[in-house]
Amino acid sequence: MKQTSHVLIVGAGIAGCAAAIALADRGLRVTLVEKQAEWRFQSSGIFIYGNGLEALRRVGVLPGILAAGFAIEDGRNVYLDHQGAPIVDVFYPRSSGGAAPIVGIKRSEMHRVLAARLGALGVEIRLATTVAAIDAPGDAAHADIRFSDGTQQRFDLVVGADGIRSQVREAVAGALVPRYTGFGVWRSVHQRPRDMNAKVMMMGVGKRLGIMPIGDDRLYLFGTVSEPAGRWYPKESWPERMRERFAEFAGPARPFLAQLGAHSEVLYTAVEEVQAPLPWHAGRVLLIGDAAHASTPFMGQGGAMAVEDAVVLADMLSSHGISQAVLRAFGERRFPVCRFVQDASRKVGEAGALEDAASCARRNAAMRDGAQRQVDAFYGELRALQAL
Ligand SMILES: Cc1cc2nc3c(=O)[nH]c(=O)nc-3n(C[C@H](O)[C@H](O)[C@H](O)COP(=O)(O)OP(=O)(O)OC[C@H]3O[C@@H](n4cnc5c(N)ncnc54)[C@H](O)[C@@H]3O)c2cc1C
Repeated sequence: MKQTSHVLIVGAGIAGCAAAIALADRGLRVTLVEKQAEWRFQSSGIFIYGNGLEALRRVGVLPGILAAGFAIEDGRNVYLDHQGAPIVDVFYPRSSGGAAPIVGIKRSEMHRVLAARLGALGVEIRLATTVAAIDAPGDAAHADIRFSDGTQQRFDLVVGADGIRSQVREAVAGALVPRYTGFGVWRSVHQRPRDMNAKVMMMGVGKRLGIMPIGDDRLYLFGTVSEPAGRWYPKESWPERMRERFAEFAGPARPFLAQLGAHSEVLYTAVEEVQAPLPWHAGRVLLIGDAAHASTPFMGQGGAMAVEDAVVLADMLSSHGISQAVLRAFGERRFPVCRFVQDASRKVGEAGALEDAASCARRNAAMRDGAQRQVDAFYGELRALQAL
């Protein structure tokens, strides 16, 4: 591959930052554009399972992520009912390289770690910038870009990492509208009591509420509930609405719900999905991350898939150079993995949304017998697909 290949990455989320680092690390010239005027990231936390941690190791940022986050060293996920009565403990596998099975981290901290690595590699970052026009004929070995500031530039590859509402996707897959899943997610960040060391998932009637440490002093509460399509709530009402939505949850969730008030860090998200069909490229324009495969959050894998995309892309480009064949092969390799995660996540969401008490009792009983088997089967299948 010619060392001077110049790649434009559109979007500085997890996918874009990870791809910029992985490509720059392999000697490509990278320009990263982000439409936000400053580094500003969602409040709330994120948890990353072993496969995502391994991908972050390959990106060179795992030590920083482990230092800033909170590792669940034994991989235990404690399932309770909404009153706090135990259902079952499930154990997630350690990463293939021996990192913890699950790490929780504040999203802003994760981006601080990624941004530091971008800085160390000298990646050119242009904030408050987006693409105004893309000209990438199918047979050309370049893409011509007009930026929002009026400047024009030619790139060997344009990577659309601009999230679920991707603008770049239009150039690859045409107009593709995200599908609303019927779920809203309510998230809040709290002080972590010293003795709150576990990842907890509470299964209610039509609702799920999770608790996850995301640092030495912080934890993160995340609750899923059906919300009507098109419903939006004023930001100032979020803490109170979150408290109301999950008012029936007791046990370890109760003190955190009781804390929710005007000063709380709360985020509401109406969950959407996107499944861009193959090919994920057109000419020299390629999609990665949520732009190609935004998933429901129930497997906690969207961020991991984004980092894996970055690592696989960097490996393929550094081994084979940039060509239509390689871009096609990238999509064909990643599509089954991401589709598998999306399908599994949707099913978990549906099981968590059962709205009558009898079905929920049956679900909880089935979890006692089968939840560990399901986790093992999911990670077994994921590993098999990743190896293809
Ligand atoms: C409620 C919820 C909980 C989740 N929890 C987890 C979890 O625990 N673990 C996990 O692994 N995943 C989780 N995910 C999924 C994960 O957050 C996403 O998959 C991941 O953030 C996708 O990263 P991305 O970089 O592809 O997209 P994004 O994070 O959306 O980043 C896109 C970036 O591009 C920028 N941008 C957009 N348009 C343009 C443009 N036209 N020009 C320039 N820049 C642009 C945006 O400002 C943004 O910075 C969750 C998702 C949700 C909704």
